Amino acid sequence: RILLDNFSKSFGSTKVIENMRLEVAGGEMLALLGPSGCGKSTTLFAVCGIHRPTGGRILFGERDVTDLPSQARNVGVVFQSYALYPHMTVAENIGFPLKVKGAPAAEIRKEVDRIATLVQIGKLMDRRPAELSGGQQQRVALARALIRKPDVLLLDEPLANLDAKLRLEMRSEIRRLQRETGITAILVTHDQVEAMSMCDRIAIMKEGEIVQIATPAEMYNNPKTAFVAGFLGNPP
Ligand code: ATP
Ligand code: MG
Repeated sequence: RILLDNFSKSFGSTKVIENMRLEVAGGEMLALLGPSGCGKSTTLFAVCGIHRPTGGRILFGERDVTDLPSQARNVGVVFQSYALYPHMTVAENIGFPLKVKGAPAAEIRKEVDRIATLVQIGKLMDRRPAELSGGQQQRVALARALIRKPDVLLLDEPLANLDAKLRLEMRSEIRRLQRETGITAILVTHDQVEAMSMCDRIAIMKEGEIVQIATPAEMYNNPKTAFVAGFLGNPP
């Protein structure tokens, strides 16, 4: 599980998140859903270790990771802005996190093959990112995030740049992978359909606070506030 315990984050005098509590169960995929600027990425950056919280603690299982740098947290990350390395082949891109760790070449090759099969890009291994479609690039990014067998998978608007058809395909693809690997995942999105179709539970955020947290069905049928209802497209 992932636990944000009393998590706060300010930038200078701007308080973005105050005393948030959020628990994601082991093996669960949770959506952080909310309008632009509500603090979704800020929350995810803290879980990932890019930002240090200004208050509170972050736990993975029983392990307090609040003071650990990103590399020591064993997280896989797919961010909209995390581009692939253009000069490397697909295989080199995917294997890069293992190479950095100093893994032997034979092991890297084996793991790259395993993960490429999982995300179904086995035939593209010698191409460079510029020779791939958007959806294929997204799969490569996903493979790169998964290769270290992370405890936690963090996705920040991973499908925002894809066309409608690819986005649909990748939604079920990511969900399938998440189920197959049993990885605990947080998906940041402002797309309610994406959240409802991909995640076990949804946390709706507004201005740095979680307004409601529930399964998609519970939330759709019993929105706690007009804001939640409006956001899910089911106004009272
Ligand atoms: P979006 O859907 O647009 O990506 P978001 O929910 O991810 O929005 P955040 O990026 O978490 O929003 O930003 C939350 C608030 O924190 C915003 O008001 C933003 O301006 C502010 N903020 C984020 N990063 C910084 C920073 N480095 N310095 C100052 N303010 C910041
Ligand atoms: Mg964001």
